[in-house]
Parts: sequence; C-alpha cells; structure tokens
Amino acid sequence: MSNQTCTECGAEINLTDDVVLNEILPCPECGVELEIVDLDPLTLALAPEVEEDWGE
Ligand SMILES: [Zn+2]
Repeated sequence: MSNQTCTECGAEINLTDDVVLNEILPCPECGVELEIVDLDPLTLALAPEVEEDWGE
C-alpha cells in the first residue's frame, strides 16, 4: 500500500495493493479523476475527460 497525492488539490490518496494500470481513482477531496499511468513507480495523472460530443 502506498499513498499518492492528488495532482490537483494535493490531497492524500490512499492506494490499495490491488490497483491496476489505467485504473481511475476519484479524488475524495476535489473529485477529479486520477488515472494510474505507471505502477513502478506508482504515478498518478489527471484522467482525460471523456468528451463524446465533438460537434459536427
Ligand atoms: Zn484532489
């Protein structure tokens, strides 16, 4: 288990041992979605917003 920090608000995110690559974790503080982009070392990045509406 390891802790990571929200890239947006700096809140501590508790990670369990069973996290998997590309898992999305919502920040408990600001609600932003963080994606696990690397497991060694554990790295969190802002998950891209899903924008289905491209106009046209
Ligand atoms: Zn946050």
